Amino acid sequence: MEKLRSFVQWMMIDPRHPEIAQAQYNELKTQIPLLYALLMVNAIAVSYTHYDAAPFYMTVGILGPMLVFTTVRLMSWIKSRKIVLGPEAAIRKMRQTVILGSLVAVVYISWSLSLDQYGGPSERGHVALFIAITVIGCIFCLMHLPQAALMVMFIVTVPYLAHYMRQGEDVYVAIAMNIFLVCLVVLQVLFNSYRGFCKLIDSQSALAAKQKETERLNAENERLAQTDALTDLPNRRYFFSRLDDLIEKIGTDNTPFAVGVVDLDRFKPINDTYGHQLGDQLLTEVGKRLGALARPDLEICRLGGDEFGFLFRGDAKDAERTGQNLCERITEPYRIGELQLAVGASCGIALYPEAGRTSHVLFDRSDYALYNSKTTSRGRTTVYSSEHEARIKSDRAIEAALQNADFAREFQVHFQPMVWLPERKIIGFEALARWNSPVLQQVGPNNFIPIAEKTGLIHRLTLLLFDKALAQITSLPGDLCLSFNLSAVDITSLETIEGLLEVIRQRNADPRLITFEVTETSVISSYDAAETCLQMLKNAGVKLALDDFGTGFSSLGYLHRLPIDCVKIDQSFVADIESPVACGVVTSIVNLCRSMQILCVIEGVEAADQLSTLEALECRLVQGYYFAPALPYDEIKQAADTGGKVAGLELSSLSASEIHRSSMG
Ligand code: C2E
Ligand code: CA
Ligand code: CA
Repeated sequence: MEKLRSFVQWMMIDPRHPEIAQAQYNELKTQIPLLYALLMVNAIAVSYTHYDAAPFYMTVGILGPMLVFTTVRLMSWIKSRKIVLGPEAAIRKMRQTVILGSLVAVVYISWSLSLDQYGGPSERGHVALFIAITVIGCIFCLMHLPQAALMVMFIVTVPYLAHYMRQGEDVYVAIAMNIFLVCLVVLQVLFNSYRGFCKLIDSQSALAAKQKETERLNAENERLAQTDALTDLPNRRYFFSRLDDLIEKIGTDNTPFAVGVVDLDRFKPINDTYGHQLGDQLLTEVGKRLGALARPDLEICRLGGDEFGFLFRGDAKDAERTGQNLCERITEPYRIGELQLAVGASCGIALYPEAGRTSHVLFDRSDYALYNSKTTSRGRTTVYSSEHEARIKSDRAIEAALQNADFAREFQVHFQPMVWLPERKIIGFEALARWNSPVLQQVGPNNFIPIAEKTGLIHRLTLLLFDKALAQITSLPGDLCLSFNLSAVDITSLETIEGLLEVIRQRNADPRLITFEVTETSVISSYDAAETCLQMLKNAGVKLALDDFGTGFSSLGYLHRLPIDCVKIDQSFVADIESPVACGVVTSIVNLCRSMQILCVIEGVEAADQLSTLEALECRLVQGYYFAPALPYDEIKQAADTGGKVAGLELSSLSASEIHRSSMG
């Protein structure tokens, strides 16, 4: 019963094997036209030999419509060669073919057997031969549709055999038996080859499925390789490959585009204070917010650390607005566990092709614009412009001149007096670097120090300048203090710190008279290394000052955490001292320093009224053009030797503890 059901299912073309059905149908498209052609040729031949013997309606009369029908079917199969059918349609078509094939077989066998009653032995022999070769030919043509082959074989051979057995002529019975057996064998061969065909198709489709799976896995691997594991945003690799794509495509698609870099502000202190795990959580949250802003024309990636990149298709104005929007979205507060946190973000943008035509240059330019945002307008977006280009050119010129400079000859330190207000006396000097380059003439420290840092020349330069400064200050009368500026690179280099201490030892100088000035931004950028180095200096007995105080972000935190002896309030507050805000800030810093027993220096005093305001606030140590700019050593030496005064002020040898005592008083 079960066997019968599966046989019927098979005869109806089993829909569970759609790939096989489709392959079968494709083969049939070429073979069925041949089958019809064979049928027509053979039928015409029989009709021709019976033309005289049989009535007209039996030869031409019946054959005519049969030929017309066969021709129509033949043409329709030829036409269908170009049409690709889906599995379902192919199955339907094959079911039709099985039914139609059976009907055609019925018609042809009825017609040819009824011709057998006409003509002599040769005509009758021709009929027997016609049926035999036609059925074998048709079975062959139907080798890819064995269901139809089976039907045709039985519809033809059973009546054929029955017809001749009824007549009882031995020769014809033998022929019919023979043909029947041959057909059975042919059918068996055909089934065998059909099974092979099915296996082949099965293995082909298994292979195709495997290939599809491999392709899917490859695509998944590719996606993972281009995804940042922490934030799930596309990563740096994706960013640069997309950037290359955009540049390549711009030849055909003329939409302008922008490369943007967004960097978090104050992320490092958060990471340092709350730990890396929380830092990661914060980055994940930032990633989520940015990911939600991505659009087809705005792709946002994480480039690494707290740096994100974006590619935006649009003009400069829209790009700037987009960058600013990203920064503002990042700046909104975060809630992580019990903590409420806030970070800032700055952005730099470079436009194609104004800023550059290669991914490397475009990225560098956007990074440069970001650096500008970071240093001059935090939280803002800077679009790379021609001024930046000019700046880069001038930086390159400085770099080239610096590489070839004769340090000992070209670099000097000038000394700006630090004035003790209660006695209007100079208690020491801040050493400020000066470069007189034979190529570029006077270059300011703000311009060459960052380049010396970048090129790694700062180590040699710092040691040379410090040695000069120490030699010169100790040659002045009395025990004067020396303040010397250290850069971010200096305070994270053990080699430089050891070098500085070695200079102090060799010059036999009193370390208590020496103060090293550092800015908080330089400390933040590499806090752990900086802390170790600063502690080494402290242990050697020198003092530390936090320079440009009030311009950073977390000043108060660092006052507690670093071994600081002195704070230098940034010039910008003095320039603005008439405003209640600046005045309030200066007052609170002065009070804070007093309560923390830290010395406080006010920088940038230029005018008498500024000085009187500061004196009213009980500021005691000041620097500024009001008293003197940074002066060359020779000038100071000569003035000190001749009148004992520099810039009209006496040099004082107040001891450090004296200053400290009266400053705190
Ligand atoms: P800084 O340490 O804040 O130095 C104070 C700057 O303000 C000096 O500029 C000084 O000439 C200037 N200045 C002093 N009084 C006044 C005033 O009343 N009004 C105004 N407007 N400016 C005043 P300079 O010499 O151009 O130095 C700039 C910066 O370069 C310094 O800022 C310091 O950060 C850095 N620098 C200078 N020399 C060295 C050095 O030897 N090593 C390192 N690493 N950095 C140095
Ligand atoms: Ca300074
Ligand atoms: Ca300063």
